[in-house]
Amino acid sequence: MSNRSKTDDKKTAQASTSAVGSSLARPPRAEAEKAVETLIRWAGDDAGRDGLHETPKRVAKAFEEWFRGYGEDPASILQKTFEEIEGYDEMITLQAIRFESHCEHHMAPIIGRAWVGYIPNGRVVGISKLARIVDVYAKRLQIQEKMTAQIANVIEEVLQPQGVAVVIKAEHHCMTSRGVMKPGTELVTSRMLGCFRDSAITRQEFLAMVD
Ligand SMILES: [Zn+2]
Repeated sequence: MSNRSKTDDKKTAQASTSAVGSSLARPPRAEAEKAVETLIRWAGDDAGRDGLHETPKRVAKAFEEWFRGYGEDPASILQKTFEEIEGYDEMITLQAIRFESHCEHHMAPIIGRAWVGYIPNGRVVGISKLARIVDVYAKRLQIQEKMTAQIANVIEEVLQPQGVAVVIKAEHHCMTSRGVMKPGTELVTSRMLGCFRDSAITRQEFLAMVD
């Protein structure tokens, strides 16, 4: 995480409820590493053997990457907008944004793609920002339904467009590698706001892009 985003987070953490977790006290790293060691022993292995000796450290480091979304405020990512758009008021869609998340019930990977579209109301946001919004929410413990709603809601709140549409398709490893064991199945969720909810034609135009 860069110094700049740390400073930004401090500024926005109190004002925004979307930066969930940023106000919670994190345990020291040593405690996290100890917990991983316990899980290795719970799995049935010898946490002290050569191959596993450094694993708790590596897992703690991986957690910093997998869950970095707690330290980022999605609303602030969308603050910078462009208004010189010559009256552009058609659909803007970023398609098939690949993401990796973790389910909050098993901490197992959720691997999927997101389609994010909106129809602007006088201002647009840089397209990379839409991908970053997906990532901020993906890099937290999630359920897909909530993540879909969060992405649509923050775009609606900050950009105040004519409408927002989000579709997510993802494979949940908690059901492909355990439990019901159904590899290849995808969960599909969607949230339609504004003109995407009100107009079947607009909604269809968006959904035609989802494969
Ligand atoms: Zn799960």
